[in-house]
Amino acid sequence: MNLNKLMFIKKSVTITRSILYSNSISTSALRRDYKYVGISEEDLYSNLTSKSVNKILMGELFKGMMTTLGKFFTEPVTINYPFEKGPLSPRFRGEHALRRYPNGEERCIACKLCEAVCPAQAITIEAEERADGSRRTTRYDIDMTKCIYCGFCQEACPVDAIVEGPNFEYSTETHEELIYNKEKLLSNGDRWEPAIAANLKADHKYR
Ligand code: SF4
Ligand code: SF4
Repeated sequence: MNLNKLMFIKKSVTITRSILYSNSISTSALRRDYKYVGISEEDLYSNLTSKSVNKILMGELFKGMMTTLGKFFTEPVTINYPFEKGPLSPRFRGEHALRRYPNGEERCIACKLCEAVCPAQAITIEAEERADGSRRTTRYDIDMTKCIYCGFCQEACPVDAIVEGPNFEYSTETHEELIYNKEKLLSNGDRWEPAIAANLKADHKYR
């Protein structure tokens, strides 16, 4: 082999080395920039193993049955309605009622503030003067299907006559049954007076 040929081979080796060296630098730089976000191979196999063991031994089924068994010995969060009922706030706004004084006289003085304040225009009142000069309603209707239970009528009433009582069980089959007249409202008041009076007393500090 002559000297020229030897020099050519040496030069080629040097060039190849320099190319390889430069490639390895750029590859390692790229690797440094990337982040591995997938599940690692080790985790993948351990996941697969635990899943298979769970399936073979019916682990999920066993866990579910243990949860069911545990619930046998804990206090239930549900109640057996309608035989059991949950607690109600004194401020609960349920079915309307017209109250009377202890001597049986109607509280309502037909001032019509409740009718004026009602945003749903659910209240209709007609009034006239009695022989003794007092003013009383001759008609007091509430369309319960219009009412939005805002409680404004109760708040506006100066004599605590119209109130929203604690009764929430008054569903009906027809619309007509939910248009309450004065007799119905007064009978509601007579029926719920003890509970209504207790609620008003419990809440009087905040009114
Ligand atoms: S609760 Fe509200 S919407 Fe219902 S009658 Fe009273 S003021 Fe009207
Ligand atoms: S219920 Fe009360 S607010 Fe309504 S008309 Fe009678 S006194 Fe006035």
